Amino acid sequence: MAFDVAAIRAQFPILDPAAHGRPLHYLDNGATAQMPQAVLDAVIRHETRHRANVKRSVHFLAEAATEAYDQARDAMAAYVNAAGADEIVFTSGCTAAINLVAHSFGALLKPGDEVVFSTLEHHSNIVPWHMLAKRAGVVVKAIPVTAEGRLDLAALPKVIGPRCKLVAVTHVSNVTGAETDVAALVAAARAVGAKVLLDGAQRAPHGPIDVAALGVDFYAFSGHKMFGPNGIGVLWGRGELLARMPPFLGGGEMITRVTLEETSFAEPPRRFEAGTPPIAQAVGMAAAARWIESVDQEAAHAHLQKLTARLLDGLDGMKKVRVIGPTGLQARFPVVSFAVEGAHPHDICQMLDEDGVALRGGHHCAQPLMAAFGVTGTTRASLALYNDAGDIDALLAGLDRTIRRLTA
Ligand code: PLP
Repeated sequence: MAFDVAAIRAQFPILDPAAHGRPLHYLDNGATAQMPQAVLDAVIRHETRHRANVKRSVHFLAEAATEAYDQARDAMAAYVNAAGADEIVFTSGCTAAINLVAHSFGALLKPGDEVVFSTLEHHSNIVPWHMLAKRAGVVVKAIPVTAEGRLDLAALPKVIGPRCKLVAVTHVSNVTGAETDVAALVAAARAVGAKVLLDGAQRAPHGPIDVAALGVDFYAFSGHKMFGPNGIGVLWGRGELLARMPPFLGGGEMITRVTLEETSFAEPPRRFEAGTPPIAQAVGMAAAARWIESVDQEAAHAHLQKLTARLLDGLDGMKKVRVIGPTGLQARFPVVSFAVEGAHPHDICQMLDEDGVALRGGHHCAQPLMAAFGVTGTTRASLALYNDAGDIDALLAGLDRTIRRLTA
């Protein structure tokens, strides 16, 4: 079936250039993706018809809000193929989800235990482990990357040793678009009895996830990168593992009983959701998941592969441009980073903005990866399924002009 990108674009009000009085080629989806009308409607409907706190009052609005929140959890459980909705913890985002694991799973670790991440990680999957190392004497180790910007699988036996308790790695790199070979990672972790966390922030927008098939233990992602609201994210965790973990934050609705002396805690997921949760945001994230599910996944994938190929081909023909990361289409998602000899990524982004091309330039919260590639930053185009050939061509034409101006 042909992929009707015009019909997809029409569902995103913000993509209408008339809304801005200037062209818009939005290629910064790795930072935040836009919301379709269906998601905007779901949020407005909730806020205008069902707004109330959840799991507290008994009036009809509170009941409706609680039902909407529970249904959102069901939808997210379906999106990742969880064994049950109780395995879905709503958080404020992917960062908060990883921090939750660092605190609550981290509380089960002993000094000298090891946590392994990789050189590819976003800072949100490095810094919480550094903080845990300081707090608890846990030792952190990093899987190196290959010249192509993928996990160096040959190094796994050296890095993942008998003291390793958790391997926490990105599913898809926010810099190179490289997809992690999860099977190899899980095999190496299981061989030493370690758990596996995948940071799915950049994978979640590209269709439903099957955590059972992946064979991992935790999966973290954000709403705003998958066409949903911000301020919401999900931590999926294996039920038996969540049940063993102490809470991270304390407060309302995560307890069974509180006396002046002590607290006993509710079962997961409530144990991990202290205080009033982001309710409309959860409703919006669930609407986003349903919206993604409504799209023909194969056609969307083929569309994005075609656009990625068009972009890589165009960059390949440009002098002074070096793609950082895989230059082929195998095991990659539509995120493409490049460096331009003699030009700073911020200047490139600024000049392309004049053409209406929205990119991101900088270290992408991945300074160790920048160091591994010997650059301080890159320019990044990250695509979503509403992007079209016109967006890619505008980027390539603008980049060509920009390079001639900046490096003449
Ligand atoms: N992990 C990856 C791979 C990311 O790209 C990002 C954000 O760019 C995050 C984690 C953090 O996501 P958030 O800022 O939504 O918590």
